[in-house]
Amino acid sequence: MNVPLVLTQFLDRAVTYYGDKTGVICDDRSFTYHQLNERVNQLSHGLKGLGVQKGDKVAYLAPNTLEMLEGFYGIFQLGAIMVPLNIRLKPDDYLFILNHSESKILFVDGDLYDLIVPIKDQLETVKTIIVHYKNEDTNEIDYDVWLNEQPKTAFDRALLDENDVCSLLYTSGTTGNPKGVMLTHRNNYIHALSTMHHLRVTDQDKYLHILPMFHVNGWGSPFYYTANGATHVCLRKPSPQAIFEHILKHRVSVMHMAPTVLNSLIQYHEENVPQIEQDVRVVIAGSAPPPSFVAKVEQELGWEFIQVYGMTESSPLSLFSRVRSHFEDLPIKEQYRMKAKAGYAMIGTQVKVVNDLGEEVEKDGKQIGEVIVRGNGVMLGYWKNQEATMEAIQNGWLHTGDMGTVDEYGNVDIVDRKKDVIISGGENISSIEVEGVLYEHPAVLEAAVIAVPHEKWGETPHAYVVLRKDKTVTEKELIDFSRAKLAHFKAVTGVTFVEELPKTASGKIQKLHLRNDYWESIGKTGKFV
Ligand code: ATP
Ligand code: MG
Repeated sequence: MNVPLVLTQFLDRAVTYYGDKTGVICDDRSFTYHQLNERVNQLSHGLKGLGVQKGDKVAYLAPNTLEMLEGFYGIFQLGAIMVPLNIRLKPDDYLFILNHSESKILFVDGDLYDLIVPIKDQLETVKTIIVHYKNEDTNEIDYDVWLNEQPKTAFDRALLDENDVCSLLYTSGTTGNPKGVMLTHRNNYIHALSTMHHLRVTDQDKYLHILPMFHVNGWGSPFYYTANGATHVCLRKPSPQAIFEHILKHRVSVMHMAPTVLNSLIQYHEENVPQIEQDVRVVIAGSAPPPSFVAKVEQELGWEFIQVYGMTESSPLSLFSRVRSHFEDLPIKEQYRMKAKAGYAMIGTQVKVVNDLGEEVEKDGKQIGEVIVRGNGVMLGYWKNQEATMEAIQNGWLHTGDMGTVDEYGNVDIVDRKKDVIISGGENISSIEVEGVLYEHPAVLEAAVIAVPHEKWGETPHAYVVLRKDKTVTEKELIDFSRAKLAHFKAVTGVTFVEELPKTASGKIQKLHLRNDYWESIGKTGKFV
């Protein structure tokens, strides 16, 4: 008999085999898997009491907390759908997502409650708001009080098909308005099985939640660390200092994060952390870093670096840069170069790089094409947007809008987003490649390169740069530095120094805003939006 692949099985497994083990640590509280399961049951009973049924949407606006973690399972037991909200949005964005998703219940962290107040009267479907860590005198339900009133007994679960939707995730909005991605239990289940294999997750692992759980379900971390009986360590505010404190205090072994966060950890480590004994075995980051960045993580921090590539629409991961064993014979620099590529397809997923005619590009590491993905992680579609779904998924292949190359080993290297490629004098320039060179300069903390108009070449690369503390460099020096390291047509022709770069909640640089900023600075309306 086929057993449907439903995510609640992961918690069942943890309770059966690791019931007395610490399942989650959050601030000064910790719970075994058995206790966590009781809380999850209480949550499900409570939601049922509020009339939540299979297929209903339940929204969460919370940082990485115990409450967010148990929310996934509490909702799944009812067959309801989790709608995690990015905590760095504006009230109007929440209004759009809550109404668009037709969410019935909203859980909100006490620190974020003020973001909801201005839109409360305009919420069309949300009937109940429940506040975690309630710190204001409001009429809303206090989570702790409400949860404690519920029985801890096993919950009579909804009957589910593995193709039922379990999460409705709004994309990061890096390139425009967020879209609601429908992921099924099966999508996340197989993605979890594959990811736990590639990361070699065990019950010895202590996973520090830095990557927000609201960002594509924290890349599935609530699922595969649970299934293997690892310990979740939650962190509400992941500053570099707090991260290092947690690494030491809880003997953290694995972390996922955006490269911008990893970059801040490298800098903090250089300035503040003596050589310490720690147990971090691996750190996983998305977005293409330069090889020098990989070298810093592995040499200075002593952590194995794995790059992953993915997007919300594919659960999200499709590629892993774990070095194949025979790469270990390569010179160390060459290994770092390999890890700076997004890598090979994860199990259960097929990845191709195709030209405009839909033919696979040569495996020469040079020819550029669009990355397309097919497999178990690919979404059911965009919620209430069939047109966009049909554009994204063609003949079963998800068109990612990202450009890449493939090397002789089959490793994909993400070159750029289609929209971010700079076309100068008919040549394609990868903004990521140019940024990689700028990152090698000792004064550069962060860099983002965009296309700006050029009379002769059509477009030319322009950099936005954040400097390291107490370091200086002039625009001319950076231009010369990039000319010395790159073909001249790829070198930046201008630099704007800024205090910080606009980022999404998961730490991605929003080049859209930089392009707007540049066009405003020259007093024009841009075509690059
Ligand atoms: P939106 O679709 O709303 O504009 P977004 O695409 O940033 O936002 P996500 O789904 O969170 O939303 O991000 C997926 C994108 O992140 C990919 O399409 C790709 O452009 C980028 N990305 C992910 N991993 C990597 C990587 N390893 N290297 C380079 N880029 C990456
Ligand atoms: Mg996208």
